[in-house]
Amino acid sequence: MRIDLHAHSTVSDGTETPAELVAAGLEAGLDVLAITDHDSTSGWAEATDAARRLGLTLVPGMEVSCRTPEGISVHLLCYLQDPTHPGLLEEITKAKDARLSRAEHMVSLLAEDYPLSWDDVTRHVAPGATVGRPHIADALVAAGLVGDRTEAFATILSSRSRYFVQHYAPEPAFAVSLIREAGGVPVFAHPVASARGRTVGEPVYRDMIDAGLAGLELYHRDNPEERRPFLLDLAAETGLFVTGSSDYHGAGKLNRLGENTTTAEVLGEIERQGHGAAVVRP
Ligand code: AMP
Ligand code: FE
Ligand code: FE
Ligand code: ZN
Repeated sequence: MRIDLHAHSTVSDGTETPAELVAAGLEAGLDVLAITDHDSTSGWAEATDAARRLGLTLVPGMEVSCRTPEGISVHLLCYLQDPTHPGLLEEITKAKDARLSRAEHMVSLLAEDYPLSWDDVTRHVAPGATVGRPHIADALVAAGLVGDRTEAFATILSSRSRYFVQHYAPEPAFAVSLIREAGGVPVFAHPVASARGRTVGEPVYRDMIDAGLAGLELYHRDNPEERRPFLLDLAAETGLFVTGSSDYHGAGKLNRLGENTTTAEVLGEIERQGHGAAVVRP
């Protein structure tokens, strides 16, 4: 069984529609794919239809943007949560709205130095999608200012750039507890991805574990090899499971579907723990 539990569609910053994403999963030889758009479950219905039609097993999920009080970004994957749970819905709606004003703010700063307008950016955002830096990157590419999203993130859009603006995001342990309340299974996404910015220390993991964290996304291209033993030891000590995933964004990133995978045993564990939504089997 080939199982990839982290992928994005045009509902956030992927470049393929939910149906196209499911088709790409099949093409890549996957048996199971999770759709995990940033702060949104709007892709679930279309992905579910496509999975039934095309014969792929779909795990409905989401990736929640969080931030510690020190300002360190944490991404939290969740699976099988109730998408209508009021507490969780309120947090992701707040984050989604904040992402929009933050993107507008970043573009107004960028417009002081580059020929770039808000209209140039919205052209790359599907209706209702969660707006992120990747969409600003697309506008910079279209204007010929950078070659691709990767170059944009390495330069103008980096979290260390003077155009970078933060947005509201819940604290990680609070988000973990909300996901559990919603019947979902929370997994710390790419926890040691230091190239993206600062990463959290062990106390934050402990807080998240106390709040009900279920797993760590160990096998992910952004987790440096030398930091993985720390994750494995912590998982072994605390009984967390570990996952492996691609974090596929279509043409928006180099990550390929199935480049890392999760075991069938861990998928079984996710299914046992998750009770806010069901795995879609064709
Ligand atoms: P934001 O959430 O708006 O701060 O933007 C961060 C998002 O940009 C991440 O969730 C990734 O999906 C995407 N991203 C980060 N680094 C890169 C990169 N080098 N190339 C393309 N996309 C990236
Ligand atoms: Fe993303
Ligand atoms: Fe992420
Ligand atoms: Zn992701």
